[in-house]
Amino acid sequence: MDFSLPPDVCMIRDTVSRFVQDDLIPLEALVIRRDAERGYSDEPPLPPDLEAELQEKAKAIGLWGIDVPEEFGGQDLGALAKCVVVEQLKHSIVPLRLLPESPNLYLLKWACKGKQIDKYLIPYARGEKKACTAISEPGAGSDVSGIKTRAERKNGKWVLNGSKLFISRAKRKDFMIAIAVTDPAKGKKGGMTTFLIDQGTPGVTIPSSYATIVGEEHYYAIFFDNVELSDEQVLGEVGEAFVPLQNRFGVRRMEIASRCLGFAARCVKLMIEHANRRQTFGKLLADRQVVQWWIADSYQELEMARLLTYQLAWKLDNGSTDFRRDASMAKVQATEMIQRVVDRAIQLYGGMGVSKELPLEYMSRLARVWRIVEGPSEIHRWTIARDLLKNGLPAEC
Ligand SMILES: Cc1cc2nc3c(=O)[nH]c(=O)nc-3n(C[C@H](O)[C@H](O)[C@H](O)COP(=O)(O)OP(=O)(O)OC[C@H]3O[C@@H](n4cnc5c(N)ncnc54)[C@H](O)[C@@H]3O)c2cc1C
Repeated sequence: MDFSLPPDVCMIRDTVSRFVQDDLIPLEALVIRRDAERGYSDEPPLPPDLEAELQEKAKAIGLWGIDVPEEFGGQDLGALAKCVVVEQLKHSIVPLRLLPESPNLYLLKWACKGKQIDKYLIPYARGEKKACTAISEPGAGSDVSGIKTRAERKNGKWVLNGSKLFISRAKRKDFMIAIAVTDPAKGKKGGMTTFLIDQGTPGVTIPSSYATIVGEEHYYAIFFDNVELSDEQVLGEVGEAFVPLQNRFGVRRMEIASRCLGFAARCVKLMIEHANRRQTFGKLLADRQVVQWWIADSYQELEMARLLTYQLAWKLDNGSTDFRRDASMAKVQATEMIQRVVDRAIQLYGGMGVSKELPLEYMSRLARVWRIVEGPSEIHRWTIARDLLKNGLPAEC
């Protein structure tokens, strides 16, 4: 068993780390100010032109197409490399995303066929097109069996009616990956289908958006009014919406867990710096046992979450098709870990901890979202328990 990262992954990690120090951390004050001033507007905290500039710069230093197959112009370094890159990027709160985003890349790679390859997969893999995923609805969040958006067969076309809710960045995407009911009698098991829907398709409107706890998580409602789609817009098989999506969920959970690792490492770094500098009652905070325990516990919890996350990435890279339990474990442990770690960091900094002079309060708000998106912790614990209750402990136990 080898726990060391491969040399090419170490190299890319160090490149991202320098990029974060030199190009992202200096922008944190701007992101915090824009986030504070955004009110209800959907202006992103990172200005889009600056984001494009940073993406170009990242590309120039080799941070591009990390997990994209070579046949689509990528580096094909795999899930572990992407995981490490996302982790390093999240040593900063600047919400820079390196395209393409992995969850939809894996989904499209697994499921696109025929003309979909040129129209969606290749431009997506090259970062030329962006996609959102539209699953949730007013009556269907954790429980996707409540999806009501209906796709009916009429005159050789699929006709969609219904609505979606909470869809991240929906207005800024080129196409959406949306689920609709194609056979109400079968429901979730064989009665739901995934569609690829281009931005600007007649009948699709995105009239309302919702400000949330942090600007980068601004989400939208989408309405479908007699939206006509061809068979070429069905992703995967009719009735099998969740087969390709299950894989996407695993990759997205790994990505969220990686973000938590980056934030946690930054918090521990900030805690060490402050504890070694700040004196109260004639002693450094570093000399107080409670502070030492905050640092020790935070570091241990970070390392435990990292092992789960890297193990998930390793399974993905090694072709495992059954990583639902691993994905749930990484998501729960990492998202709950970062909440504890950032809370301790804020406590250690005292009054300064809750100010907008430091990135900690931004981190704590964003981390709060991660326990809900991509399935709340309660649903993941349920998934883990159901698996263990049905199949018992795995062989290594
Ligand atoms: C910022 C943000 C961005 C999002 N982006 C997208 C997106 O791009 N695309 C998309 O499709 N969706 C998106 N979502 C929706 C997200 O996936 C849902 O919010 C999530 O799945 C929970 O669904 P819900 O909000 O309807 O909560 P509900 O399903 O109503 O659950 C509410 C709470 O009840 C508890 N609960 C529910 N069921 C159980 C159970 N069986 N056992 C124990 N407790 C339970 C949990 O604590 C849960 O938090 C986004 C959400 C947020 C907050």
